[in-house]
Amino acid sequence: MKILLAASEVAPIIKLGGLGDVIGSLPKALEKLGVNADVVVPYFPLAKIENIDIYKSHVIDVEFNGETIPVDVYKAKLPDSNVDVFMLKNDKYFSTGGTNAYAKTISETEMFSFFDSAVVTFIASEFNTYDLVHCNDWHTGLITHLLEDAMGDSRPATLFTIHNLMYQGIGDASIVREVGIVPGEHALIDWDIADGDLNMIQQGVTSADFVNAVSPSYAKEILTPEFGGKLVDILNDRVGRITGIINGIDYKAFPRSYDQNNWQTEKPKIKKRLMEKLNLTYTEDRPIFSFIGRVDPNQKGLDILLEAVPDIVKNGGAFVLLGSGDKIWEVKYQELCNQPELKGKVSITNKFDVELADLIYAGSDFLLIPSKYEPCGLIQIIAMWYGTVPIVHAVGGLKDTVIDHVNGLSFDEYSADALRGSLRSAMELYSSPEDMKEIINTTLIQDFSWTKSAVEYAKLYERIIKSRQ
Ligand code: ADP
Repeated sequence: MKILLAASEVAPIIKLGGLGDVIGSLPKALEKLGVNADVVVPYFPLAKIENIDIYKSHVIDVEFNGETIPVDVYKAKLPDSNVDVFMLKNDKYFSTGGTNAYAKTISETEMFSFFDSAVVTFIASEFNTYDLVHCNDWHTGLITHLLEDAMGDSRPATLFTIHNLMYQGIGDASIVREVGIVPGEHALIDWDIADGDLNMIQQGVTSADFVNAVSPSYAKEILTPEFGGKLVDILNDRVGRITGIINGIDYKAFPRSYDQNNWQTEKPKIKKRLMEKLNLTYTEDRPIFSFIGRVDPNQKGLDILLEAVPDIVKNGGAFVLLGSGDKIWEVKYQELCNQPELKGKVSITNKFDVELADLIYAGSDFLLIPSKYEPCGLIQIIAMWYGTVPIVHAVGGLKDTVIDHVNGLSFDEYSADALRGSLRSAMELYSSPEDMKEIINTTLIQDFSWTKSAVEYAKLYERIIKSRQ
C-alpha cells in the first residue's frame, strides 16, 4: 500500500502547530507497519533544512490560471526514518506562506489552490503509483476534484482529515477557473460558489471518498450545530463515512531528562531554571500553572483563562504563558504584568519558541488547556509525558485523553467559574504530596504514541481503497 500525505506543514521542517506534529510523525509510524507513506508540502522559505539531507529531484509543469508554471520538486527524508518528503518550490506562490497557519485572505486560498494543482501534477509525475492520497485540512480541499479531472476512474482513493473545522479556507470563486475546473463539471463546486465564494474545507469534506476527524469525540461534536456551524448539514450527509482517530505523538521529538524513577529530584531543578529564565520571583514550593499555544481567542479559552489568572496568584501559584497570535489578546495578557499584585508571579512570552516550550512543559506543575473546542490537542499529551498535570475543558480530544483526577483535572462547563473549580482542585492536590505524586506517576506512564492510531489509519486506508475497487 502506497500513501501520499498532503499538508501545509511537516515537523520539524515546517511547524506551526499540531498539524505539523501529526504530519511529521504519523508516516513514520505507518512505515513501521509496512505502509509506504510519502509526504508532500509546499517549500516555504522558513523551512528548517539545516540538519536535513535535501536535493532537487525534478521539475513539474503546473497548469494554473492559463499559464504553465514550473515547480521544483525537492526530496528529503523525515529525520530518523525512510519517509520521503517532497517539497514543492515556486517563488511566486510559496514565497510568503508558512508564517500563519491559516487562511484569512484570498491570497492564501489562491496559494493553496495552486498547491493542490501542483500536488495532482506531482502525482502524475510519479506515474500515479499512490493507492491513496491522505488530504489534511482546507489547504488540500480541492485535491479530490482535481484528481478526478486529471485521472478519472484511475485516480487514487482519497481520505480527508479534519484537524480544525473552524479554519475553512474561504476564497474567491475565481479560484475554480484558476485551477482549471470547468463550470458544470462538479455539481458540488457549482453549488458551493453560487454564493460568490469557494469554501475549501467544504470541498474536501464533500468530495473525498472518506472523512475523518482527529478524535472520536470531535468526530461526533462536528455533527452538532454548536461545533459543525454552517457545515453541520453537509457533515451529517456524510454520516457513515466520517470516523474519528485520536492523534498520537512521536515521543522522540520531545526530549526529557527524567522518567518515573527520578522525576522527583530532576523536575524541581528544571522548575528552578524556568523560574530564573522567566524572572519569576517566587518561592519554589509554589505551583506553576502554564499555557502554551496559539493565542486564538475563538478556540483556546483565553477569555475564561484571563479571568482566572488573578485567582491562580491569589491562591499562591504563578502563571506562565507562551504563545503568539491575536495581537489584541497578546496585549490583554501582557497587561497582567503591570498589575502590582501579579508582579513577578506572571510571565508572558509572545513568540514561537520550541526550546522554551520544552522548558515550560518540564518545569511546570500544571498545564492549562481551557479550550472552547479542541479537535484533538497535543499539549495535554505532551504535558503528561513531562509529568505535568493537564487541566482541561472536557471537550473533543481533551475529553478522550484526560480523565479527571486520574491523569489530569477536567471541568465540564465552559466558564471561568468551572475553571476556577479545577484550579481549586489543583491547589488541593498540590498541597497533598502523596496524591500529587500518584497523579504525576500516572501521567508519566500514559502511552499516546502513534502505535495504536497508526494501525487504525492503516485499516481505514485499506477499507477506502477496497471500497473503490
Ligand atoms: P493547535 O494545532 O491547535 O495549534 P495542538 O495542541 O494540536 O494545537 O498543538 C500545538 C503544538 O504547537 C504543540 O506541539 C505545541 O508545543 C506547539 N506550540 C504552540 N505554540 C507554541 C509556541 N509559542 N512555541 C513553541 N511551541 C508551540
